Amino acid sequence: MTAPVLSVRNLQVEFETRRGMLRAIDSVSYDIAKGEVLGVVGESGAGKSVTGLAVIGLIDPPGRISGGEILLSGLRIDNLPPEEMRKVRGKRIGMIFQDPLTSLNPLYRVGDQIIETIKTHTNLTDQQARKRAIDLLAEVGIPAPEKRIDGYPHEFSGGMRQRVVIALALCAEPELIIADEPTTALDVSVQAQIISLIKRLGRDHGTAVMLVTHDMGVIAETCDRVAVMYAGRVAEIGPVQEVIKNPLHPYAKGLMGAIPTLAGEDKRLVQIPGAMPRLSAIPPGCSFNPRCSSAFDRCRVDRPEPLRQGTQAVACHLYDRATETAA
Ligand code: SF4
Repeated sequence: MTAPVLSVRNLQVEFETRRGMLRAIDSVSYDIAKGEVLGVVGESGAGKSVTGLAVIGLIDPPGRISGGEILLSGLRIDNLPPEEMRKVRGKRIGMIFQDPLTSLNPLYRVGDQIIETIKTHTNLTDQQARKRAIDLLAEVGIPAPEKRIDGYPHEFSGGMRQRVVIALALCAEPELIIADEPTTALDVSVQAQIISLIKRLGRDHGTAVMLVTHDMGVIAETCDRVAVMYAGRVAEIGPVQEVIKNPLHPYAKGLMGAIPTLAGEDKRLVQIPGAMPRLSAIPPGCSFNPRCSSAFDRCRVDRPEPLRQGTQAVACHLYDRATETAA
């Protein structure tokens, strides 16, 4: 069996604050295979973006990876020196953020930015790199790419800019792309186009994709598997259709009510009564217990570990045989 492109094992990320150490990510594990799109979903503050930043080595002090490991095609990358990690980030991991202007320099023509990135990672000549840049722009759906290549970022619409960012992320033919809320800032009609483009990455390039979003509708349309995060942990992970049709974790059950109808209304997460705890006030036991209508005594004391249930894994005591026999 080939190694997964990305393997995150018992990852812990902590932030040092005046009030002490806060754990933003607590023992998170998942794999992404070649050509697979894994969605990471959860409310704001659940730790989904921090997980992505940890993978690309961009957790800035006072944050730090305090435990676990991250492997890219079998190579451990969480402990690489910053210079080595910078090379991995440019060449082997591509990034797409919510705001395309995070990735594009407004002062340079888009083509120059793509060509420079291509030349950094390949031995192509100027002319060959320009040809490749035009091909990439065409592939991501920029009309008349041989003309638009000489445009500046402000001359592109939001959706077109995000396409340019995807072309930029593809330049070095990365094994993994981390896309953090890539469609959130875009009009609904453009969102659908960007989603189908991201889907095609896995299919046509064999790229593994980690798609971070709060939008269960985007996950449903794009991903092969989904990890539902809550308070820095994975509450449930499994094939997207299984998790949607048959969510196991009480929190995931609540989230699945948030999948948009075909009519397209209500793309945001449905509110589950209460709020996710702050990192400084994570309750003992299961962090979801104050909001969970199924909570029982053990939930207030023991932290649930992921338990395999068919193709899904769920961190909830309801699925623990020991609990059943004890109950
Ligand atoms: Fe609810 Fe208990 Fe399961 Fe947590 S472990 S989700 S509190 S039933």
